[in-house]
Amino acid sequence: VNDLESVVAALQAAPTVAVLAHVAPEGDAIGATLGACLALREAGKQTGAYNADPLPPGLGALPGVEHLVVGGSIPPTYGCYLVLDTSDLERTGGLLDGRAADAPVLNVDHHAGNTRFGTVNWIDPEASSAGEMVYRALRHGGFPITPPVATNLYAAILTDTGSFRYANTTPRALQAAADLVACGARPEEIARGLYRNRDPREWRLLSEVLAGLTLSPDGRLAWIQITRAALGRAGLGLEAAEDFIRYPRSLAGVQIALAFKEVSENEVRVSLRSDGDLDVARLAGQFGGGGHRNAAGCTLAGGLSAVRAGMLAAAAAYLAGSR
Ligand code: AMP
Ligand code: MN
Repeated sequence: VNDLESVVAALQAAPTVAVLAHVAPEGDAIGATLGACLALREAGKQTGAYNADPLPPGLGALPGVEHLVVGGSIPPTYGCYLVLDTSDLERTGGLLDGRAADAPVLNVDHHAGNTRFGTVNWIDPEASSAGEMVYRALRHGGFPITPPVATNLYAAILTDTGSFRYANTTPRALQAAADLVACGARPEEIARGLYRNRDPREWRLLSEVLAGLTLSPDGRLAWIQITRAALGRAGLGLEAAEDFIRYPRSLAGVQIALAFKEVSENEVRVSLRSDGDLDVARLAGQFGGGGHRNAAGCTLAGGLSAVRAGMLAAAAAYLAGSR
């Protein structure tokens, strides 16, 4: 059975569908969630959109975002669960805990390390984004792609390809984006909503974080840290720093960039980025995390400085081994 076909058949058969994605969501998680939710609603289904965590800045302008339920749990009334962009069950943040035992879980994801936790699993590591996969499912099933649906799916592809700059900017991703524009997505408006709709406090936080940007002596590692204290001074939550890692990543000669995010006194979230063949998903995997070859993450117990020291040592060892 073709996994795409099983997902489409299950969606067509389900009168009620809850749509959700991973914790600490970004543009792909939310764009794919809202795009799928709105399209299924348009097709006459009862749908809801859920995420365990608050939205990062920029995503509040996406159409249908007012339907998104953040935190809390999903009522047990749904007959089907569509889980997007989520590599393992734990990364739903417990949103599936109350589901009816016989409700199918449709696992649609582009992470190579997906644990196939669904009733139906459609995993395509070649897909640029979960948004591209939802697009393909909607087209395959003949679901309506209205301008609000197209806007969300375009935003998902745009953000997960780094505005069409990363290696996942494939012909298929660009063809999907082109078709979505033909369906009514407006690139300029979407980019304005995502990138020109910011709160000055974010840039004050960024300036403090960048003041602490550090490089390893050989210039191959660069890292930043986002502390509780800095967040407190800015009056912002960690989600505001979601894409700060692009700054250490942008430095010439840097092969692995890291961002250490202090969740609490005893928990640190680490974001990792690399280029080319360097596989940071493997590095994150050593610490119980995962992700894609060039973009991965993990969450570690411990204080910021201890976690940072351990992670930087592992990253240096990985680089030394890959020379
Ligand atoms: P982030 O740095 O949080 O933007 O995450 C980059 C990539 O790594 C995304 O594809 C995430 O889904 C994945 N990722 C982040 N944290 C974890 C984790 N704790 N476990 C598995 N995958 C993760
Ligand atoms: Mn994604």
